[in-house]
Amino acid sequence: MSYAVLSDVHGNLEALQAVLKHIRKSGPVDEIFFLGDAVGYGPNPDECIALLEDSCDELIAGNHDRAVLGLVDVERFNVYAKAAVRWTDDTISSKSRAALQNYSLVKNLQAKDALLVHSTPFEPEQWHYMFSALDAEPGFLHFTQRFCFIGHTHRPFVAELTAAGQLVSHSQNAPINKDSRYVINAGSVGQPRDGDPRACYALVDGQGVRFERVPYDVQATQQKMSKAGLPEPLVQRIAMGR
Ligand code: ZN
Repeated sequence: MSYAVLSDVHGNLEALQAVLKHIRKSGPVDEIFFLGDAVGYGPNPDECIALLEDSCDELIAGNHDRAVLGLVDVERFNVYAKAAVRWTDDTISSKSRAALQNYSLVKNLQAKDALLVHSTPFEPEQWHYMFSALDAEPGFLHFTQRFCFIGHTHRPFVAELTAAGQLVSHSQNAPINKDSRYVINAGSVGQPRDGDPRACYALVDGQGVRFERVPYDVQATQQKMSKAGLPEPLVQRIAMGR
């Protein structure tokens, strides 16, 4: 068993292409999961949705995807995120909109004993944040599967709850231990916020979780963002990884 877990692409086609190429190069994975926020912030929402639809086996919705559909109140977004949602809403095709409408908030993968959710297993429609393993600890009460995969904060981590009830925090790679349960934040493909601007995704197999960092042509994305008239702070931040 091996799978790749991607989250928070946010319309960044160069980052998504680099990650998919990296997955193919790293050796075959059985499946690819996408944890939401295909759009928002970046200049290529239609292309990203099409590529995700082609490449991923399971897809769920993030708050930006829902906001573009008018299902999340953008007043909860900051001024730049709001502007990007409006830009995306004006830009995307009806085909992309129909694809986004298909994505559910959570997905239970019975065969993998895993739950996929963009924000948190507790009240997923409220879009709470889990920034660290410590934040994740109460979350273990709100799902029954062995694995819960999340995104939303754009910062990767693994929270392990051992059979003895001890919380172990992994900021990098983590072993998969037989009797432990896990909350795994896959980080962000298109707009990392942990100080490393390279695209991030998680590779999971029977042994462990590995976060891969993939360089991509950030400047190409930035140029497209500027040309599209997306807010300058959003253009700057992808080069900084914050
Ligand atoms: Zn996001």
